[in-house]
Amino acid sequence: MNQFLAPTLRPEDEEVERSLRPRRLDDFVGQDRVKEQLGIALDATRARGEALDHVLLVGPPGLGKTTLAQIVREELGVGIRTVAGPALERKGDMAAILTALEERDVLFVDEIHRVNRAIEEILYPALEDFRLDIVVGQGPAARTLTIDLPSFTLVGATTRTGLLTTPLRDRFGMTFRLGYYDPGQLAAIVLRSADILEVEIEDAAAAEIARRSRGTPRIANRILRRVRDVAEVRHQGHVTMEIAREALELLEVDERGLERIDRDLLGAVAHKFGGGPVGLSTLAVTLGEEPDTIEDVYEPFLLQLGFLQRTPRGRVITELGREHVGAPADDGSLF
Ligand code: ADP
Repeated sequence: MNQFLAPTLRPEDEEVERSLRPRRLDDFVGQDRVKEQLGIALDATRARGEALDHVLLVGPPGLGKTTLAQIVREELGVGIRTVAGPALERKGDMAAILTALEERDVLFVDEIHRVNRAIEEILYPALEDFRLDIVVGQGPAARTLTIDLPSFTLVGATTRTGLLTTPLRDRFGMTFRLGYYDPGQLAAIVLRSADILEVEIEDAAAAEIARRSRGTPRIANRILRRVRDVAEVRHQGHVTMEIAREALELLEVDERGLERIDRDLLGAVAHKFGGGPVGLSTLAVTLGEEPDTIEDVYEPFLLQLGFLQRTPRGRVITELGREHVGAPADDGSLF
């Protein structure tokens, strides 16, 4: 299976991603409303010298949630501690992290919907009153110790708000939803990244990469790096439109930015399940993927393109989706 460009983060990407990450809010391309609202909150917080309200960032992988958390830290000139929700197993882990924070620091919890119940319970008083309640001893001798924490900012990232419990969701003062980027914004990101990576690229080639990046900066940057490889190995290093197209073909990225896995998904719904409806778990087994991965990583863009629909009985392919995988409805009508 071609996982090459999947928008989820892989360890080998981390270093390059760090170098390509915009550091200030002004360098962050697109998401104008988010930038405006966050900018005002940051200015106000700075003026008051307080910690920023807790922030929840929602959106598919690769759209800039980690980048925004880092920008908050940079703009406030404070420290940051980054953890992945599933990595927090025991209450003690969370307590250790919280007590090590300094005043106004940012605690970034990625995949916050995957923290377990025990961790979540520690978080409530920590977020609300900057207080850590620890139960020591057992049975009748048990006592609760309260430790004061510095005022800090939790920045949580999740793919869907519906995955969070209501009490946790309610602890966030601000929620920002990140949407897919348009091709113009992605082209700006590609040109900026090319500049940092010292790649010479024609505007048309940047626009082509942008158009085929599924609205996702991480994918745009990833394609740019693969295109650079092709340019260096097969050509003189300068990226033209032809080279960009050649590389995209090698990567099996089609005109709409879909990869093999996206086409397999559409193809399965169209051919194996008669166009749907098909349940998520059945589809996941057919494709050999986790249901969560399908729902959070592949599906949102197919829904956005209008290739797929979610119905109460399962996933249904649309006429547009059928056309894309060369499986038009038998009788030529939608009904
Ligand atoms: P997420 O945390 O949502 O998965 P990241 O913040 O890690 O996504 O972003 C992935 C990559 O895309 C980063 O390397 C970053 O450089 C780039 N990126 C994301 N959003 C933007 C943006 N608005 N402007 C420029 N680059 C961006």
